[in-house]
Amino acid sequence: MNETDLILKNKFDVEFVLIEPSHPGNIGACARAVKNMGFNKLGLVNPVNFPADEAFYRAKGASDLLDNAIIYSSINEALAEKTLVLGTSARERTIPWPNTFTNKIFEEVSGLDGNNKISVLFGREKSGLTNEELQRCHMHLKIPSSEEYSSLNLSHAVQIISYELRNALLTDIDVPIKEDIPLSTDEEDEFLLKHIDEVLLGLDFYNQNSSRQVQARIKRLLKKARPDKLEVGILRGFLSKIEEMLNK
Ligand code: SAH
Repeated sequence: MNETDLILKNKFDVEFVLIEPSHPGNIGACARAVKNMGFNKLGLVNPVNFPADEAFYRAKGASDLLDNAIIYSSINEALAEKTLVLGTSARERTIPWPNTFTNKIFEEVSGLDGNNKISVLFGREKSGLTNEELQRCHMHLKIPSSEEYSSLNLSHAVQIISYELRNALLTDIDVPIKEDIPLSTDEEDEFLLKHIDEVLLGLDFYNQNSSRQVQARIKRLLKKARPDKLEVGILRGFLSKIEEMLNK
């Protein structure tokens, strides 16, 4: 294995996650795309038909990724330990989210500590990712395809994004690390969001603000901030104090 591939495998933990893929052929083609670009992790959330021969035919020399694919039964399971979640989508939905074109991804991953666990989410062939799933992401990636027909085949999208990510992560090797404390995981973010929700309910906040998509906007605020573990802990402590006062 050459040095480039070793760096990618050892320094960065990147999992390509397909949410409810329906065609086993696509799963195989995705495994091949991922391995071609020097990554080795494939996650499948509730695949419709897997394992299947068709997947192995299409994977060719990447069948090891299919053998080792992690099958998740929910997105929570897939994301629990991840510190950076990138969602992919051909079109904008609900409230605008932090997003970038795939060829600009370098700016987003530069200076990332190698201890980060990165998940790249891909949607269903027919309907893509749901709004709820897209709101779990720190950032949305869009392949700058034609506006007239923007949606690529799933495995083609995986190919382009894994290629861009490979280039971005490899160019990044000499950039100084910016973090002092590790970033929070998706699960920690989810607990914080639930805690905020409970306190807002306790304060009867939603009644006056029902039309403002408060929850989605708070999620977006958190994802934009990319807080670290300590910051999340401070916010949780702060919320607990408010709860204490409310319960008095
Ligand atoms: N018909 C669906 C698209 C499904 S394509 C829709 O309109 O949402 C399957 C998946 O491939 C998408 O969920 C996304 O993960 C990826 N994909 C396809 N085209 C893309 C593009 N232009 N940019 C980023 N991801 C894309």
